[in-house]
Amino acid sequence: MSDLKRKIKSLAAAHPFIWKTFKKGQEWEYDLQYERFYGRFSTTTASIREINLEFCSACNLRCRFCALDHLKPKSYMSVEVMDRVFEALLYDERFSRVRQINLHNGGETLLHPQRLDLFQRIRHHKVLFEKQKRAFPKIILLTNGMLLREKLARELLELKVLDEVGFSLDGGSPQAFEEMRVNAKWARFAENVKAFSGLRDELDPSVKTFGICIVPEPHPLNDSWMHPDFQEVARLLNSVEYRRLHDWGGQVDIGENAAVNKKGCSMLINQMVVLPTGEVTVCCNDLNGQGIIGNLREESLYQIYSGEKRMRYIKLLKEGRKDELELCRECVSF
Ligand code: SF4
Ligand code: SF4
Repeated sequence: MSDLKRKIKSLAAAHPFIWKTFKKGQEWEYDLQYERFYGRFSTTTASIREINLEFCSACNLRCRFCALDHLKPKSYMSVEVMDRVFEALLYDERFSRVRQINLHNGGETLLHPQRLDLFQRIRHHKVLFEKQKRAFPKIILLTNGMLLREKLARELLELKVLDEVGFSLDGGSPQAFEEMRVNAKWARFAENVKAFSGLRDELDPSVKTFGICIVPEPHPLNDSWMHPDFQEVARLLNSVEYRRLHDWGGQVDIGENAAVNKKGCSMLINQMVVLPTGEVTVCCNDLNGQGIIGNLREESLYQIYSGEKRMRYIKLLKEGRKDELELCRECVSF
């Protein structure tokens, strides 16, 4: 998400009237996108603009608001599954709109035991794209930051594959951070962010950093009221999105803040998510694989994109029949 979009979203979320208007606009946008990509006169170009890769299904934290099923079996993405995504982007023109690979979904990306192998493989694909004069998608890592120690930060920055690195830093004070992000230690997190920022300046200043910060009510959506130690770390980042808790597809109670979209979903139009098993789901709100629409080990990315299971989501959300989709029924986020 661009800085401008983050700012607009933060502003809209802070004012109920603007937020409701914003949600209505999202429904109209869906109608337009539907006609463009799935209507009678559409072409074969895929609507999706970003793909999320879940390297690891497990997480080292237990955040109070997390919707991830921490009891599900751990799985790790293989190089083969990841290759299928990059090969589709390189050789299949129908995915020409994909401009972004997000290295996150459920779980913590950096918990993958062979994480460096996967990052080196991304480097390999980047070189292939360059040789074929194809634009390589932006690579965005979102992490809880606990494992991004100096050594790993240096290794990742030296590979020159990351365009943006995001950190989750909720709460507004070291104490609130540790209360919300159970198992996280503020001192370790702050040290890692500081080390990463310094190394970024030295090794690859083109890498942008951002933060996603859940602000508890009734505090305003900015850092003016925050603890100085928290402010110091947040201000090292190029941008921070301050926001209220969102509902992870209705699995987390966010109170009365939300206006429900009766139809449409920009996430569904713009995104697909590849899980470590090769399974593909419709959006990054689906942390526990309720919306599986295919498996990259058995079908191509385009077959999954255009397959019956995904089309059912696309059509039902166009017709405002969200209630018929178990995954989407309670989702008020997008
Ligand atoms: S870091 Fe993310 S995946 Fe891990 S427990 Fe927290 S919210 Fe859940
Ligand atoms: S759960 Fe459904 S409505 Fe919510 S973001 Fe995902 S696809 Fe969209």
